[in-house]
Amino acid sequence: MARPRKPEDPEAYPTPCARCGGHYPLSVTWPDGRLCVSCRMNAMRTTGTCACGHEGVLPGIVDGRPACRACSGVRVNIDCQHCGAETELYRNQMCLRCVLADLVDAAFADPRTGKVSAQLRPVTDAIKSMERANSGLTWIRQKHVLAMLRKIAATSPVTHASMDRLDRGRTRDYIRGLLVEHGVLEPRDELIARFTEWADDAEDRLTDTEHRAIIHRYLRWKHLRHMRAESPISNGTFLRAKQVTTVAIEFCNWLTDNSKTLPSATQGDLDTWLAEGATTRLMVAWFLTWTRTARITDPALTVPRHRRGTAARLPHDDQAEALDHVLTSSDWSARNQLAALLVLVFAQPIARIVQLRWDDVTIAPDSVTVNVSGMPILFDHPLDAPVRDLAANPGQANTAAHRDSPWIFRGAMPGNHITAMHLRQQLRPLFSSLAARLGTLTELSRQNPVAILAETLGYTAATLEKHAAVSGADYGKYVSDIAQA
Ligand SMILES: [Zn+2]
Ligand SMILES: [Zn+2]
Ligand SMILES: [Zn+2]
Repeated sequence: MARPRKPEDPEAYPTPCARCGGHYPLSVTWPDGRLCVSCRMNAMRTTGTCACGHEGVLPGIVDGRPACRACSGVRVNIDCQHCGAETELYRNQMCLRCVLADLVDAAFADPRTGKVSAQLRPVTDAIKSMERANSGLTWIRQKHVLAMLRKIAATSPVTHASMDRLDRGRTRDYIRGLLVEHGVLEPRDELIARFTEWADDAEDRLTDTEHRAIIHRYLRWKHLRHMRAESPISNGTFLRAKQVTTVAIEFCNWLTDNSKTLPSATQGDLDTWLAEGATTRLMVAWFLTWTRTARITDPALTVPRHRRGTAARLPHDDQAEALDHVLTSSDWSARNQLAALLVLVFAQPIARIVQLRWDDVTIAPDSVTVNVSGMPILFDHPLDAPVRDLAANPGQANTAAHRDSPWIFRGAMPGNHITAMHLRQQLRPLFSSLAARLGTLTELSRQNPVAILAETLGYTAATLEKHAAVSGADYGKYVSDIAQA
């Protein structure tokens, strides 16, 4: 694009230009007259075939037609000292194309030999001969481009892997595109390449070296192998692999923070971690499927299925607050406290709670165990208080109707436990102060169970599991049962 011309100035430049007639600073005196800068430039760029048959630059004018130097007598240097071409000179007595070629050779030269390697030559040839040499020059003159080209030139052979080690960004992508286009590098699946690159960074996020090694294997043997088999991969595959790996890394780092490892991770650890975060953590199930197959983790570790509908888990703080409320409020009878605990902590359905029998309870001086859903669960301090209180004072137990009643939650009718509807009604007002923010009792009963204990009471889920004194498989089934209740 030509720059807009300054306005004419007849006072300063009384002699007009011989070609355009304008009053501008005059630049040269040629046989056809004195020319302004702009007309001189145009003359140097005028090419074609002269009346004499010469092909090339036609700077002069003879009989009103552009003419070559010989015919017009115009003396001007338009001979490239490098290639000999007759053309407008760009710099150092060289034409634009030769200047570009010099720059390309310099940028791509292997510093050890001073020459462009045979591997890179197809690319340098292509840039040198590109149609718009000017664009090539503008591009290669940029500092960041030159810097990257020098790094590439210093590498031999240049590979996708060596390219991957350079600074990311458009410059690298563009150069890689050139290398692929001119056959220096094989075409490849860029999504897989991006994932590989992402994976390298992701591994660095692991705070424990053993976990890093595991995630490294996971990325290579699970995701990348799968992607290569499936290539070209979809964006969905790419994104899902990233999400799942991110969640897996979070889990690993959480274990590290809690002085645990993947191989030693328990169901309780998993539950606690799941309870603390967003539902996206459930995606860890994909990772654990692999760790199970790879014999890294306890095969019994179970992740609850994604729940449908709106029964989202309570945020962790709300869980803690609800539990705290149940344990400290004087409004709560021992019986209702126990029922509320079973709902909040153990996620037991009301219908199952009402069927609990004293046979299910073992009270020892230092511990209280309640058989919940076939699982003996330790009620550690302070969770044991409601059970002890209730055992010491079972309410209507002293009436004739309830002598030797087996039920923990005794009903009004002799020999019967309380009905689920009745217990629900009893709990409702007690939950009401929480209900506005925490949702209905039904929703509360669907919360993730064991984990609440860990953080609020300093009572770790791992301890809970240990005291449950059952096999990992049973425990996993238990957790899965309550998650689906
Ligand atoms: Zn002019
Ligand atoms: Zn001529
Ligand atoms: Zn030249």
